[in-house]
Amino acid sequence: MSERKTVLISGGSRGIGRATALRFAKAGYNVAIIYAGNETAAEKTGKLVRKAAEQENAADSVGGPAEDGTSGFLAVKADVSAETDVHEAVARVMETFGRIDTLVNCAGISRDALLIATKAEDFDRTYEVNLRGAYLLSKEVFRPMMKQRSGRIVNISSIVGLHGNAGQAAYAAAKAGLIGLTKSTALEGVKRGILANAVAPGYVLTDMTGALPEKVTDAMAARIPLGRGASPEEVAETVYFLGSETNTYITGQTMTVDGGMCM
Ligand code: NAD
Repeated sequence: MSERKTVLISGGSRGIGRATALRFAKAGYNVAIIYAGNETAAEKTGKLVRKAAEQENAADSVGGPAEDGTSGFLAVKADVSAETDVHEAVARVMETFGRIDTLVNCAGISRDALLIATKAEDFDRTYEVNLRGAYLLSKEVFRPMMKQRSGRIVNISSIVGLHGNAGQAAYAAAKAGLIGLTKSTALEGVKRGILANAVAPGYVLTDMTGALPEKVTDAMAARIPLGRGASPEEVAETVYFLGSETNTYITGQTMTVDGGMCM
């Protein structure tokens, strides 16, 4: 088994997931990502992770260089909502690195519409990727984490899961569900050294929000006391704190990272 710690990040090919991958790589972790289909984006994350791992200061790392000849990076194409895909993806990570110390459930989609215009299939797909995916992955990594008697799980929720948002009923419901999943996971994990928390970002500058009209993003920024959207790296820093061994006493919590938007 590799002595080097391993993080598994769903949705690690872009945005917040990629920034999280780089943050953990800088701390000396092996990084495994799950992505939906954009191979170019996944390869780019791989290049950046390898570069970050090379630059990592061995003195600060949690494991030292990968002694088992692996690159310290693995990308698995999988649909997080499909049970077989998730089972096979986690098995590949275990075969490659021998352990999973941290799971970050970051894969997400939004199909926004007013409640009366939300199609049932869009509601279902939003739930499947954001919530069922996190449930399947958490369930799958729980056994190896129990054996290790340590683990960290971080679920990426959203401020809309806490406060709701007109035009995002499906997304808000899935993100609120993640908070319940987090609390139950935390309660079941405590005796086994597994801590589970959620991060609820506000407006983050990624492909997901890049697709919104400028009028909408300007209006969002105007509601933020800090006056701007977050960079993915600013969110990743909180994910790293909660998902690494720096965190020894916080579990079952939802940490908002929103520039003061919801106080
Ligand atoms: P993004 O669209 O840039 O990336 C989404 C990632 O999810 C990609 O890597 C994609 O491959 C993956 N993904 C999507 N469907 C998948 C599936 N079925 N199986 C496996 N992977 C899948 O998104 P982002 O803005 O970086 O958001 C990351 C997370 O943060 C999401 O859960 C999102 O809901 C949440 N979030 C984002 C914001 C924001 O403002 N961007 C705010 C709050 C919460």
